[in-house]
Amino acid sequence: MIDFSHVHKHYGSLHVLKDINLVFKRGEVVVICGPSGSGKSTLLRTINRLEKIDAGLISVNGRPLPTRERDINRYRQGVGFVFQSFNLFPHLSALENVTLALRRLQGQSVQEAQASGIRLLGRVGLQDKAHVRPDHLSGGQQQRVAIARALAMKPPLILFDEPTSALDPEMVGEVLAVMRELVSDGMTMVCVTHEMGFAREVADRVIFMADGAIVEDAPPEPFFTHPGNPRLRTFLADVR
Ligand code: ADP
Ligand code: MG
Repeated sequence: MIDFSHVHKHYGSLHVLKDINLVFKRGEVVVICGPSGSGKSTLLRTINRLEKIDAGLISVNGRPLPTRERDINRYRQGVGFVFQSFNLFPHLSALENVTLALRRLQGQSVQEAQASGIRLLGRVGLQDKAHVRPDHLSGGQQQRVAIARALAMKPPLILFDEPTSALDPEMVGEVLAVMRELVSDGMTMVCVTHEMGFAREVADRVIFMADGAIVEDAPPEPFFTHPGNPRLRTFLADVR
């Protein structure tokens, strides 16, 4: 589905992605972990073209990522993105946050969009919060609204960037539960997270990044049980 070939990215003189070679297959669940500053968010952002790359090629379903603004916008509608900081519109209700794209981008009628929105909020367990604004929702609830919003355009691929890191510990579980549901529905998912229990349980592959490079890319069993790389061993000892 997504293919990275010799991808490089710099911020000025900082080399943040160094020769990334990767394939994400349809239906796959991939977890990316690694120390802060290792380039995980940048990698994720290159997938939906929030960041440009300097060298190499990223292709989607066998074709290079679009470059024209119009094509990029259309492509992005097919990639759900969930951020650490939720990024909900504060002046809109949960339902309005979820239905915005359906109204604006798909031109759905109010009734149509609301029906989809209620169904999506039901999927994340928040049907009863449809008319509540984000500041009256807990962090976990806000993140579940953000997931419902990311699902609204029925994206074939969803990206998560540390979706639980900004949450109080007691709210992490409810968000991971929603993500597990998506996995069992067969969603293709790339998730940056340090929730190693989640990775062990649902990931097909776990990737460890350090210093802009992919250091390890393996199924959970060898990744966690026999981590070959010394930096990975140190990292795992620290996050546990
Ligand atoms: P991670 O998500 O693994 O913590 P990032 O991809 O956010 O890492 O960042 C990788 C490196 O690039 C870090 O050193 C960070 O400070 C730097 N960086 C990230 N975004 C920018 C930016 N917009 N401009 C300049 N440097 C950036
Ligand atoms: Mg990050």
